[in-house]
Amino acid sequence: MSATTSEKLMGLDAALDAFDPALGLEVHVELNTNTKMFCGCPTEFGAEPNTQVCPTCLGLPGAMPVVNGKAVESAIRIGLALNCEIAEWCRFARKNYFYPDMPKNFQTSQYDEPIAFEGFMDVTIEGDDGEPEVFRVEIERAHMEEDTGKSLHVGGSTGRIHGADYSLVDYNRAGIPLIEIVTKPIVGAGAKAPAVARAYVAQLRDLIVALGVSDARMDQGSIRADVNLSLAPKGTEKLGTRTETKNVNSLRSVERAVRYEIQRHAAILSGGGSILQETRHWHEDTGVTTAGRPKSDADDYRYFPEPDLVPVAPSREWVEELRGTLPENPTVKRARLQKEWGFTDLEMRDTIGAGAFGLVEETVAEGCAPQAARKWWLGEMARRSNESGVEISELGITPAQVAKIQALVDAKTINDKLARQVIEGVLAGEGTPEEVVEKRGLAVVSDDGALSAAVDTAIAANPGVADKIRDGKVAAAGALIGAVMKEMKGQADAARVRELILEKLS
Ligand SMILES: [Zn+2]
Repeated sequence: MSATTSEKLMGLDAALDAFDPALGLEVHVELNTNTKMFCGCPTEFGAEPNTQVCPTCLGLPGAMPVVNGKAVESAIRIGLALNCEIAEWCRFARKNYFYPDMPKNFQTSQYDEPIAFEGFMDVTIEGDDGEPEVFRVEIERAHMEEDTGKSLHVGGSTGRIHGADYSLVDYNRAGIPLIEIVTKPIVGAGAKAPAVARAYVAQLRDLIVALGVSDARMDQGSIRADVNLSLAPKGTEKLGTRTETKNVNSLRSVERAVRYEIQRHAAILSGGGSILQETRHWHEDTGVTTAGRPKSDADDYRYFPEPDLVPVAPSREWVEELRGTLPENPTVKRARLQKEWGFTDLEMRDTIGAGAFGLVEETVAEGCAPQAARKWWLGEMARRSNESGVEISELGITPAQVAKIQALVDAKTINDKLARQVIEGVLAGEGTPEEVVEKRGLAVVSDDGALSAAVDTAIAANPGVADKIRDGKVAAAGALIGAVMKEMKGQADAARVRELILEKLS
């Protein structure tokens, strides 16, 4: 059953005329370390339930946690990339609550001593004049913590606990390292708040990808965003009561969730009501939020320093060494490559929007002309991705293969039309582009003997067209070229066919 709502919404424009939105974004990034945060269990995605567990991540009595050094390194690199200060000394803290998928009944997290704090990210959105506009998002903190296990509710129609016959718990995920990145309240974005929210999460994801610290797959939950939103009457400084929409798992949904909550808050506030501070569930299918649980402030959790773990005190030398490993800032890199590739703003936006930026980059690195790389990924591959619902990067063709296909086109071994068949063959697992050309017999025929015979056949079959060309109507040659291409299953060298036709009929 899809969630719908009977809640009143105010029109978005009217809502933004009357109120100023304040955003807050909490993004959880699951690190791609080989082992968990506080034990040596493997972290592989999709393993049989409860096969990657040990006394520590099951919270059994007497088990002692040990910090994963690689996770600390990733946390510091994320902090540095977000222009944060890195703590000289910090501790873990216990966040106490009951959850069936957290067997210790506390989550090991960080509280008032995060590993990284006081940073910022400059996000680029589209300004009123259509030109790019930079908006600074201040980062409050980035801290280390562990993931919970996963509950599976069986028998209900919604996958939620309500109405389920029974529930199962998989602890494989319990203890996987997470970095939670929390912004300061984002105010002053006005009508651009939904776009700022989306751009922030998109750029953060790109940064995480560039750092290589996570799979960064929103669809698999390795990046999850919680969206806080409150409204204040226009012109007032005070922040309103916020709601927290949990686990918004696509960029498009981040934008939609912000819009929805702005409209919902505005309707309640303008009707004289007040906002309940609570978590909200996001429903991807219907685009609405529904009430979760009431939420008051953080002291609920009775945080206290974790007594079983030593403090983390990264030396300044190590921090500087890690600073030296930071990749080029993705935003700066995009601007540089756009210039190098000669893409218009629109071409660049479409490429990024299609999730093809990195693919085009790699294809160009394999020697393909930028516009040709763009054409294949945004044309043929984007179409196949849309039709199949498979991410463009997961289709099963590599940038190197696309570059090879374009090289075959450039060498006139195949034409664009045949190239599509080569792509089909590569995706069907028939081998490399060259092997597909060979096996399917797709090479263009430019041998004059074969072409000449086909041209003669076409002329004989279309005497009227031939007469027109003899009379000087060269444009009519298209019909004969078409006939030859049909005869030769698209594999004739069209330019040579045209030459032959004109030679024979002049
Ligand atoms: Zn374990």
